[in-house]
Amino acid sequence: MVDQAAPATILDLIERGAPSHPAIVDPDGPTVTYDSLRRQVHDLADQLRLMGIERDDRVAIILPNGIEAIVTFMAVAATATAAPLNPAYKGDEFKFYLDDTNAKALITSDLTGEAARKVAPQTIMQLTASMNSEGLVSLSSSGKSCGRRSGVGPEPEDVALVLHTSGTTSRPKRVPLAHRNLTISAQNVATTYLLSPEDVSLCVMPLFHVHGLVASILATFLSGGTVLIPPRFNALTLWSVVRTNRVTWFSAVPTMHQALLRRAKSSESRDSGGPYYKGLRFIRSCSAALPSTTMLEMEERFGVPVLEAYGMTEAAHQMTSNPLPPGKRLPGTVGSGTGITVGIMDEKGRLQVPGTRGEVVIQGPNVIRGYEDNPEANATSFSDGWFRTGDEGVLDQEDILTLLGRLKELINRSGEKISPVEIDEVLLLHPAVSEAVAFGIPHPTHGEEPAAAVVLSSQVSQRDLVAHCRDHLADFKCPRVIHIVDAIPRTATGKVQRRIVASAVGGQSSR
Ligand code: AMP
Repeated sequence: MVDQAAPATILDLIERGAPSHPAIVDPDGPTVTYDSLRRQVHDLADQLRLMGIERDDRVAIILPNGIEAIVTFMAVAATATAAPLNPAYKGDEFKFYLDDTNAKALITSDLTGEAARKVAPQTIMQLTASMNSEGLVSLSSSGKSCGRRSGVGPEPEDVALVLHTSGTTSRPKRVPLAHRNLTISAQNVATTYLLSPEDVSLCVMPLFHVHGLVASILATFLSGGTVLIPPRFNALTLWSVVRTNRVTWFSAVPTMHQALLRRAKSSESRDSGGPYYKGLRFIRSCSAALPSTTMLEMEERFGVPVLEAYGMTEAAHQMTSNPLPPGKRLPGTVGSGTGITVGIMDEKGRLQVPGTRGEVVIQGPNVIRGYEDNPEANATSFSDGWFRTGDEGVLDQEDILTLLGRLKELINRSGEKISPVEIDEVLLLHPAVSEAVAFGIPHPTHGEEPAAAVVLSSQVSQRDLVAHCRDHLADFKCPRVIHIVDAIPRTATGKVQRRIVASAVGGQSSR
């Protein structure tokens, strides 16, 4: 159980595991012990320094989930700033992210990053990550090393990780997460779920998002436990992976939990009647709303507590969670603050009493001090020492938070956040489109999915417009339904409100 102060940096965070204890296990491949993890991270960090990578440099990482991705992330964060990117992005998106982060190097593998390699500037150092059958990760580069640099370790306030979050403009906001933000958030997760060296965490979330990186990986390393990392989530094989590897917990988005339930209920499933693995202590859900019915059905069928948590990139992931038994977990709530203070604020920045609805605001050492190079976003996101989440909620007398909606314009598709403005702008690139408004519509398994309404200046089919979006946007961001309308519905004052457009064009559901 974790009862010490949070480690200063993510390098210190991997110091706690016993040398021969498994740190990372590939269910179909090698195991990396803590001793090997520490040696590999230090060796690769030295190698990166020899290549000329320095503390303030940014290194983009485009790797599939696996041992390579974890070891590479840790080594890059120990040397410079890691900027992991979604391998599903298209060329235009990679170009934007590589430019915006000012990446000095790009790490890809044989399986990922081809589109990024094509659009990367000539000046960027290109490296390939690979792993041998013993779980040893190596980085190869076509360039030359430029001589040994001073090998100073990171400081707690150095930026270990930079991620982007979707904003109200098409330009995503850059979130700089310091070592201290990450280690404190990892500590909060480990403390909430009483993680110990005996725990085995199954990581099914992608490693370009804080959910997988902080909850599944860093919290586990901090507590000296084991991370099990398959290449992707697979509802058909999950329970056999859990049993074979004695998994004690896993964290996922509601869409994945619902896929597991559907599978368990299907007649072909050998798991349909349970019992599920007895060593499983709990299942965690985060990054999108978990319907109460899903939570209750999961608890009944899988026989373990299902704990909904609330997280955000700007808070280095976890903000609140429902507790383990004997604590009270309440379906439909996200529990109470885990190592951070949660408040509710009105539009004028006044804190509200329990029972009053308003914007969820947070304070804590895991929360960023500001976005990078974005004074407008900083001016609106911080108020009196509080960070405004853009989520709407209410606290009860016992400080338990219920989320009620979102004030910010975001589409949350299975936990992936999509800026509707980014879709508008891609649609407007099409010569036949004169106006475009994207919005989220409810979806039975993704929670929400993108749709759009467009006004045309010349003839084009809906199909061609969807294909145009696919050329410029990762598939998960592409609207499946595009309504061709004569005019975009507006409010009485002439404003476009996405929610009004969604209901006016009949976008309640695409199915
Ligand atoms: P991200 O930065 O991708 O982690 O997204 C953070 C956003 O995800 C939050 O501001 C919420 O809008 C949403 N979110 C996270 N957890 C939950 C949850 N348990 N229920 C509803 N929305 C959530």
